[in-house]
Amino acid sequence: MGFLVRGAEKVPSPCCGKHMKVIGTRDRKAIDRSGKKHIYNIRRLQCEQCGKIHHELPEFLVPYKRYKSECIETVLTNRSNHDIPADESTLYRWKDWFYFYVEYWIHCLVSIKHQTKQDGDDLKVLPETSGTALQRLGRLVGNASGWLARVVRPVVNFYLWVHTRSAFLSGGG
Ligand SMILES: [Zn+2]
Repeated sequence: MGFLVRGAEKVPSPCCGKHMKVIGTRDRKAIDRSGKKHIYNIRRLQCEQCGKIHHELPEFLVPYKRYKSECIETVLTNRSNHDIPADESTLYRWKDWFYFYVEYWIHCLVSIKHQTKQDGDDLKVLPETSGTALQRLGRLVGNASGWLARVVRPVVNFYLWVHTRSAFLSGGG
């Protein structure tokens, strides 16, 4: 029996910004930081405008990742000193995955901020190449715990999430 995930707020469809109807559910597994597996029951939603299907994404999940967001975040923030029970190849894949997509995510977040007219002072302190990838992301979403979720959520909600099965990313993770 999976834990039911039900968002409180009505989210407009990422594709058209229209109402979405619930067309079913799907079980989604995720491993927490103690190594325990959980099953979450997630709703399948369909855009009433164009018919595109979306899956509800709880804050603690990253699309296509088998571990919870906080596990991946902990490893990325603390590569040499963390207690996440994942094997070396998984840890290596997370790092590769992060550095493969981080420039794209930064681009997405900046573009979303412009689109939603959030461009304030914070964008002025974003020279494209200043600081590490983590520092630059931190300027966009903050460094506090939960930063990975704050990167993933808007990118997914604006339908910009990209998942490529290239050689080094294959096998999930
Ligand atoms: Zn749509």
